[in-house]
Amino acid sequence: MFLALVLLVSTGGSCGKQENGTNALAGWEKMGHEDDPSEEPSENPSTNESTDPDESKDPDADCWFKTRGIVAGWTDVYAPGNEYEINYMKLAEDHHLNSFSIYNADRNSQDWKNFMAEGARIGVKFEFQEHMMSFLLPRNLFDSHPEYFRQDKKGNRTKDANGCPSSEGALEQVFLNAKDIGARYEPTNHKYYFWLDDGGDICYCDKCKGLSASDQALIFENKVLEALKELDPDAQLAHLAYNNTTEAPKNVKPSEGIFLEFAPFHRTWDHALSETWAEGNSGWNHARYLRVLQENLKVFPKETAQVLEYWMDDSLFSSWNPSNLKPVPWSNLIFQDDLKTYAKYGIRHITCYCAYVGPNYFRKFGYPQFLIEYADGLYNFRKE
Ligand SMILES: [Zn+2]
Repeated sequence: MFLALVLLVSTGGSCGKQENGTNALAGWEKMGHEDDPSEEPSENPSTNESTDPDESKDPDADCWFKTRGIVAGWTDVYAPGNEYEINYMKLAEDHHLNSFSIYNADRNSQDWKNFMAEGARIGVKFEFQEHMMSFLLPRNLFDSHPEYFRQDKKGNRTKDANGCPSSEGALEQVFLNAKDIGARYEPTNHKYYFWLDDGGDICYCDKCKGLSASDQALIFENKVLEALKELDPDAQLAHLAYNNTTEAPKNVKPSEGIFLEFAPFHRTWDHALSETWAEGNSGWNHARYLRVLQENLKVFPKETAQVLEYWMDDSLFSSWNPSNLKPVPWSNLIFQDDLKTYAKYGIRHITCYCAYVGPNYFRKFGYPQFLIEYADGLYNFRKE
């Protein structure tokens, strides 16, 4: 079941995968480089309650959630020729979203440049959440260097996904390509996302077989971050805890600057995470997710940990079929309860897919009020 989903995902939607690889690597404009004080981690409890009415202070100062983001496709946020039916920029401006990850945009187009300039004006940061392994370790190296690629359980090298993190040559390639791609994909918040292949299996060679998927991912990620820091000394890189990398790494330690990105793809959104007995389609119950989140937070810093959620991901709820959109089963009660859960674990950075919540969604279901409830919920949340 999951494999079928993965194939569907790869045609666009919540995995954020590019339909056309060259698009993904098109030139990137550098804009909006100012530092954002709201990105500074703060555990000072005095910031939870504002006692100072001085409006000239950082309006985010008493917000618990410092990152309030969305991940969407370009065709969701931009509708040429008929104005925005859902104006994501206005939503961000009026309701304090501050982080956009937009996939499948032509980075060289004037429309995209205008979009970014508008974002910079209102304080939206841009980042790029993508599965990148096939760019970091190009498959066309397989014929000359099969040892760069993963060994399957039968002992054969294969280029179907990911690579061999015990191969020095593979790590050299990853380093070089990370630097090249990072220079063209520069986020405006120093947060990079070079995810491994979606649903891809890992290496079982003699050197790798004792390493979990999370360990193997982290070896690649540490190397990617080393490259990115040569471009941007403040670079941070996500370790995506998702699917086979959801469990915490055990044998590899994250370099400074790696942050946890926790994506509970197999939960159910019919129940809050705090309902620990509830179970998603793949048989993962919420108790398991909360245990694994806690274990990950022993390995990765709490201050920078981020959640990638799916509350509004209509690509997921429509089974990645854009011609048969289903309504997002939004529940503000569940969302609010989930925020409490995440805050309880110390998480202050949240972003969420809203793939397929675009012009067609608006035409079929009207204005998605949940976008406003999402943004307001994050902005107004105060930890008890
Ligand atoms: Zn290996």
